[in-house]
Amino acid sequence: MKSLSQRDRNYIWHPLTQHKTHPEVIGIRKAEGVYLYDEEGKGYIDGISSWYTAVYGHCNPFITGRVARQMEQLDQVVFSGFTHEPAVSLSEKLIPLLPGNQARLFFSDNGSTAVEVAIKMALQYHFNRGERRKVLLAFEEGFHGDTFGAMSVSGLSVYNGPFADFSLEVRRIPVPDQEEPTALLTRLEELLETESVAAFVYEPLVQGAAAMKMHNARGLDRVLGCLREKGVLLVADEVMTGFGKTGTHFASGQLKTQPDILCLSKALTAGLLPMAVTSCTAAVFDAFYGDDLSLGFFHGHTYTANPLACTAALAGLELLVSEPIQEGIRRIMHSHGEFLRRVDGHPAVRASRQCGVILALDLDAPGPRYGAFRDRAMRFFMERGVYLRPLGNTVYVLPPYVIRREELQKIYGAIEALLEQLKA
Ligand SMILES: *Cc1c(COP(=O)(O)O)cnc(C)c1O
Repeated sequence: MKSLSQRDRNYIWHPLTQHKTHPEVIGIRKAEGVYLYDEEGKGYIDGISSWYTAVYGHCNPFITGRVARQMEQLDQVVFSGFTHEPAVSLSEKLIPLLPGNQARLFFSDNGSTAVEVAIKMALQYHFNRGERRKVLLAFEEGFHGDTFGAMSVSGLSVYNGPFADFSLEVRRIPVPDQEEPTALLTRLEELLETESVAAFVYEPLVQGAAAMKMHNARGLDRVLGCLREKGVLLVADEVMTGFGKTGTHFASGQLKTQPDILCLSKALTAGLLPMAVTSCTAAVFDAFYGDDLSLGFFHGHTYTANPLACTAALAGLELLVSEPIQEGIRRIMHSHGEFLRRVDGHPAVRASRQCGVILALDLDAPGPRYGAFRDRAMRFFMERGVYLRPLGNTVYVLPPYVIRREELQKIYGAIEALLEQLKA
C-alpha cells in the first residue's frame, strides 16, 4: 500500500509550492483538539491553528455536532430570494460583537473574496454617489489574498510579481511606527491632494503574511482619522486578526476610528468549512439602496451563506464568548509574555513581539533561498511533535485557544531547542 504522500505526487498541484525544491508533503489522517495525526499515527501540536482557523480545536464536538444536525435539515439553498435560520441567527449574533457602526453582512467564500467584495463595495459606493474615485490605498507589506483585487492591494512581491501589469491602481504607505507618525501624515495629506482615493485597505495591528509584523495602534488611529476626514472608506481586513487573535474579539475594537467595511474569514467558521463575511455600515448599505436596479450590488457566489458554514460560524461564536475560551486566550497571552522574557536577548533572536495570542520571533538564520530556513525549521519542529510553519526567518505561534499549559510549554521548548541549535 502506497503512502498518501506517494499517491499525492501523481496528480496534485499544491498551493504556494515550488514542486521541484519542496520536500515531500506529509499525509495527515486525523485531527483532534490541538493535535494533527500523520499516517503512522504520530501526533503534532498545531501551533498555528491550521493557518489561524481552528482556534477552538480541531473536530470540536460542539461544532461538528451542530453541523451534523444542520446537515439533516438544510444543506444548501440559493441565497438570492431565499433566506434561512443559520444565516439569520448568525447575523443576529455577529453584528453585536463587531465594531458598533457595522450594520450589514454580505457573505462569500474565503478571505480573498471577502476583500474582493469589500473593494467592489467601496468603488461602487463612490460610483453610486456620483463620485469618480479610482485609487486604492494600502500598506506596503500587506497581504489581502490571491484574487486580482485582493492581490492588487497586497504588497508582497513573491505572490504578485507576474501579475503586476494587471493590477488595480494602488498607492502604498508604510505602517505607522509611532503614536504620532508625522512624516507619514504629511505624505498622506500630499497624496490626498492629488489623488482621488476610494478606500484604504489595511490589516489592523498585525500583518499576518508579512511575518506577523506589528505596528503602533495610536499611529494607525491617526492615519485612519486623516483618511476618514477626506471621505476615504476604511476597509479593515480582519481575516487573520478576527475572533480573539489580538486579545479582543476584533483588532478594530482596540482603535478609536472604526472601519466602514470589515472583512472576516479563517476562524469565522472555526476551521470547519470555508466561508467569509464582509460587513459594512448603514451608510455604505444605503448608497446601494434605491428604486434603480443598477444601484444594487451585483456580486454573488453560488455557495453564498451556505447553511452548514453559517451553522459552524454560529457555534464558533458561542464558544468565542464563553468563559473557558476567554480564559484560554488570557492564559496564552500570559504564557507568551513569560516566554518572550525568557528568550529575549538570546543571540539567535533578532527581534521578538507579541499581540494577543500571536507571538513572533525573527531569527538570525540567513538561508540560501527564501523558504530554505522554513523547510529546515519545520522538519526540526515536526521531529519534536510540534507543527509550526515559519514565514521567512520568522517563527510564530498562534495556538488554538483550547491548548493546555504543558502543550504550550512543549511548543516553547521546541523553539528554544532550535535557538540553541542556531547559536551552536
Ligand atoms: C489569509 C488571508 C487572506 C486571504 O484569505 P483566503 O481565505 O486564503 O483567501 C486575506 N487577508 C488576510 C489578512 C489573510 O490573513
